[in-house]
Amino acid sequence: PAGLFGEQRKNSMGVNLGNDNELKALSDAIAASPQTWAARPLIPGANVATATIAVTDPADRRRTVGSWQPADATAVEKAIANAVAAQPDWDRTPAAGRAKILEHTADLMEANRGELIALCVREAGKTIPDAIAEVREAVDFCRYYAAQARKMLAHPDALPGPTGESNQLFLHGRGVFVAISPWNFPLAIFMGQVVAALVTGNAVIAKPAEQTNLVAFRATQLLHEAGVPAGVLQFVPGDGATVGAALCKDPRIAGVVFTGSTETARAINRSLAARDAAIAVLIAETGGQNALIADSSSLPEQVVKDAVSSAFYSAGQRCSCARILFVQEDIADKVVHMLAGAMDELKVGEPRLLSTDIGPVIDEDAKKILDDHAARMDKEAKLIKVAQLGADAANGTFFAPRAYEISSLDQLKREVFGPVLHVLRWKAADLDKVIAQINATGYGLTLGVHSRIDSTIEQISRGVKVGNCYVNRNQIGAVVGVQPFGGEGLSGTGPKAGGPHYLARFVTERTLTINT
Ligand code: NAD
Repeated sequence: PAGLFGEQRKNSMGVNLGNDNELKALSDAIAASPQTWAARPLIPGANVATATIAVTDPADRRRTVGSWQPADATAVEKAIANAVAAQPDWDRTPAAGRAKILEHTADLMEANRGELIALCVREAGKTIPDAIAEVREAVDFCRYYAAQARKMLAHPDALPGPTGESNQLFLHGRGVFVAISPWNFPLAIFMGQVVAALVTGNAVIAKPAEQTNLVAFRATQLLHEAGVPAGVLQFVPGDGATVGAALCKDPRIAGVVFTGSTETARAINRSLAARDAAIAVLIAETGGQNALIADSSSLPEQVVKDAVSSAFYSAGQRCSCARILFVQEDIADKVVHMLAGAMDELKVGEPRLLSTDIGPVIDEDAKKILDDHAARMDKEAKLIKVAQLGADAANGTFFAPRAYEISSLDQLKREVFGPVLHVLRWKAADLDKVIAQINATGYGLTLGVHSRIDSTIEQISRGVKVGNCYVNRNQIGAVVGVQPFGGEGLSGTGPKAGGPHYLARFVTERTLTINT
């Protein structure tokens, strides 16, 4: 069927792990990829003399993955000046030419899939299935935004007018965009932001998360190889508080595309607003406090299966993950019992093994926040289960998935970014209160609903203000062009990534009226 790509759907195929030949080809490609990588700022004319920072594997800190060098203040200044100089020519390049470069990048990423998967596993601690999905999503973003740009930007819109007058609406890049990405989708979100800003005619300064510079650097190299000029896309790694903040303060920046925590989005928003400059665009995709509501008509087996994958897989480090399971009291005992049983089966450990379900959390800081949360929950809530860590988890930043029964949503003040599920029971008469409580968090990213009653599904899906609602399935893994992704309220500004309106925010509109 025709999808949002505009023609036949063409999401990337990924790798079929059930097929021995594909699996062998993938293993060979991973084995043949480099063992270590080195990243540095890519800023034409900047002299980079900063100290090198080592990167180690979150699954085993004894393993070196590579090293990177941050940009210093002089390099940041040079990057902004380069971008300002390069943007007008790039904006004048026909949109179809820019779209072609994105498509070429997608092909290059597929050709280098083994290396990109290896990087996601070693640098970010992703499991192999998660790393495969990550590369697929990055490829999809390139092809999808290329298709969208061809539709939106290839020709101006001709508008009606009186005889003797021609009216046209043109779309242009806004100028220089800063792209600030998180570590949890170090390739897909990095690419999605960067290619959306590029294909619409902006120059881009890309500042990835400190934890995952290597894969972002490799992706930038592929974009350059595909034909993006060096001054149009620059790689400017560094700390958020220094390099990120310096970029967002600069009056020459026309827009920021950001994915990360709500707190950081607010800081960026304040800093953009404080500039003595034109008002900048901020596209922010931020945190969530995502609920899964199961009523007594739902199938406990399915609720548990989807709760486990939504809450614990990817070590709970997806913004879409389920954090709170609202389960109707009639089936609550059964669901809680089955949940504990399912958690006994989870394999938590070395992400390089295909048998592993859940890998490490990203770093020591993330683990500490989760340990502190667990210590508080141990006192304030009822522990349902702690999953077992594998013997191969001893040298990494692992956190054992946990489930707790809580008595009130007030016990969760902020997003807990890891594999912790909080269970709350509700009574049939209280569905409206459940909906009101979820809305009162102020977040609005994902929602899971498990029910076989149409009127209940409708009541919940209409009542809860969220960007992505999933019924009778898990609530993770949005597919580009299929489930445009992003939230509202504290969860983000929109427009949705991988959706038909995303590119519109990266352009400025100009009307040309000619008296003929
Ligand atoms: P974070 O906010 O700590 O960091 C994100 C990025 O912002 C990093 O590149 C960081 O260096 C940079 N940064 C930090 N301070 C900055 C500042 N003052 N100025 C400019 N840049 C700054 O988030 P994180 O821990 O990397 O990512 C996890 C968060 O991201 C979670 O809250 C998660 O829900 C959210 N997330 C949201 C989505 C979504 O689509 N809504 C997707 C993925 C992740």
